[in-house]
Amino acid sequence: AANALLVVNNIEVIYDHVILVLKGVSLHVPAGGIVALLGANGAGKSTTLKAISNLLRSERGEVTKGSVNFEGQRIDGKTPDELVQQGVIQVMEGRHCFEHLTVEENLLTGAYTRKDGRQAIADDLELIYTYFPRLRERRTSQAGYTSGGEQQMCAIGRAMMSRPKIILLDEPSMGLAPQLVEQIFEIVKLLNEKEGVSFLLAEQNTNVALRYANYGYILENGRVVMDGEADALRNNEDVKEFYLGLS
Ligand code: ATP
Repeated sequence: AANALLVVNNIEVIYDHVILVLKGVSLHVPAGGIVALLGANGAGKSTTLKAISNLLRSERGEVTKGSVNFEGQRIDGKTPDELVQQGVIQVMEGRHCFEHLTVEENLLTGAYTRKDGRQAIADDLELIYTYFPRLRERRTSQAGYTSGGEQQMCAIGRAMMSRPKIILLDEPSMGLAPQLVEQIFEIVKLLNEKEGVSFLLAEQNTNVALRYANYGYILENGRVVMDGEADALRNNEDVKEFYLGLS
């Protein structure tokens, strides 16, 4: 596609040299898009995100086939730090704030690859607080003592501090009450619309993901079994039966 920002082409991932987990996954995210990666527990959503952001090595996983392109350039093989500098950042499942740092210190760690100076970083911190007023209120609290929702906000805010073009967001709804899930997704939508950040988000909560995404891919057993516009997927009988019934 002409306006593709991120293109994943036929990637295969093997864990521990033998366990084939992704069996040729292809997808793309258009510039300015919110794309949902859906599927049951263990379908391969997290693995796909980690393959893109090159975070598989510490889990003894390896991309053994296929390619990943970002803005028309091959990015597979780049280190996670290089990817952050290019504008590709992942927010891992389970939030991953530094528990012993304050919320504000956590946000500032997100700026570690930047070279544009103190004032720009201070301005962005202020910007993040306008999207996440709750984080401003909690800015001097130790992150480990904030709520699950606040930690998810902190993790997204921290990613925003790197000035990303795309955020790979793993299971943002996990463990959060429905009202908070809505709040998080509303902010994702705002960041997309106002800051131009694209999102590839992995979600088991098909219902909420398809309300906020423009497009979705459904993974089963390491393969894409269906994809389409979010509205079309929401009205698809199989999707209704297998993925929307329970969430
Ligand atoms: P979840 O919602 O649980 O994260 P998922 O769709 O993101 O599910 P993955 O976490 O990508 O799925 O896992 C896909 C498959 O790979 C599962 O069968 C899982 O057991 C396996 N797997 C994940 N990590 C490893 C690992 N480090 N070593 C071996 N197998 C793994």
